[in-house]
Amino acid sequence: MPIRSSALPQGARSLTSFSLAEQPQVRAAMDWFAKNLKWINDLQSALTEIPAPSFQEEKRAAAVRAAFAAEGLPAQTDKLGNVIAELRGANDKECILIAAHLDTVFPAETDVKVLREGDRLVAPGISDNGTGLAAIVALARALQAGKIRPQRTILFAANVGEEGEGNLRGMRALIDAYGTKLRAVIVLDGSGTDHVTTKALASRRLEVTITGPGGHSWSDFGMVNPINALVRGSVRFINTKIPVSPRTTFNLGQVEGGTSVNSIPHEAKLKVDLRSESEDELVRLESALRDCIATGVKDETDNARDRSKGKLDWKVEMIGSRPGGELTADSALLASLRAADDYLGNQSRIERSSTDANIPLSLGIEAIAIGAGGNGGGAHSLQEWYEPAGRELGLQRALLTLLGVAGIAPEKAR
Ligand SMILES: [Zn+2]
Repeated sequence: MPIRSSALPQGARSLTSFSLAEQPQVRAAMDWFAKNLKWINDLQSALTEIPAPSFQEEKRAAAVRAAFAAEGLPAQTDKLGNVIAELRGANDKECILIAAHLDTVFPAETDVKVLREGDRLVAPGISDNGTGLAAIVALARALQAGKIRPQRTILFAANVGEEGEGNLRGMRALIDAYGTKLRAVIVLDGSGTDHVTTKALASRRLEVTITGPGGHSWSDFGMVNPINALVRGSVRFINTKIPVSPRTTFNLGQVEGGTSVNSIPHEAKLKVDLRSESEDELVRLESALRDCIATGVKDETDNARDRSKGKLDWKVEMIGSRPGGELTADSALLASLRAADDYLGNQSRIERSSTDANIPLSLGIEAIAIGAGGNGGGAHSLQEWYEPAGRELGLQRALLTLLGVAGIAPEKAR
């Protein structure tokens, strides 16, 4: 699929970060971050302390919406719960979306109180994605401080459903709503300034369910057993040959089934995560999983001594699918990021990863995912941490990249 160019039309003001950063209003916006670090850090802690597991993001979303409203930016909430604040451009037929996900992988009862250990903030979700959420509000505020009116409309979004079984539903809805107007999508996810994700890692999540009649471990011995069938099929599957390149992975991540040690179970379930740099490998691996489970069920049935007591049924259902895609080397969005890195003396490497950027990239819309500055670690663990020192670099990098593709409206249009 051809990638839709985010390059500004001829006549719009130059994109390079050097000329951008020399403009007084951009300078003012860039300087705003260093002067307001405490405000940004406090906002990040406050948002992190509102639990927001996927599908339960409402309270955190309301807090982000209030933060935008406090900056005089009208924000709305769509029917999925995405919060969208709009900074109207001179040309509102074209938009740039800058988004950060609201949700975390932690259940609602997790203690999310932010602890301070020296210069470090420690809490589940503090970096992923407290950093990105604080950054989108800070960027909106910095643009206001610089009195910048963009050429293209900027949409700031705090979106739901990035993690796990959220399956990128928030970003899918944003692309459905704004897709034809979107010229670029910038995803802020986690911390750091050392990478730029331009390649979307395709993944599929599948759930295997095998059911049977169930019975007593002694008196019904010899009937078909769904756990046996699942084990037989799983052993076959994990012996499937997978290539080193294109890099392809699988994970048997969750098993369930049975009711007691002395009962033949009536159900067995398995969740499997498949990832690959190649969509073809993903298709091959998914069909290998189906074949292996079918064979496991057949082996169990063939080996049963007593088939009169019932048979096995099985299914493999897709519980998540993240499409792949890749930004082309001549992308205007990537050029804008590179120019920002050059201006700021920052170095970053290209990465392939699974983020909200998968959705626009799979549809031919220019998109990247970057960290929003500072340092973090322990993502998805209870020991997750964030160090805000130097975070202004990440915020300036995001700002220059954003303005590089949004452009600044000529004076007469203001
Ligand atoms: Zn994240």
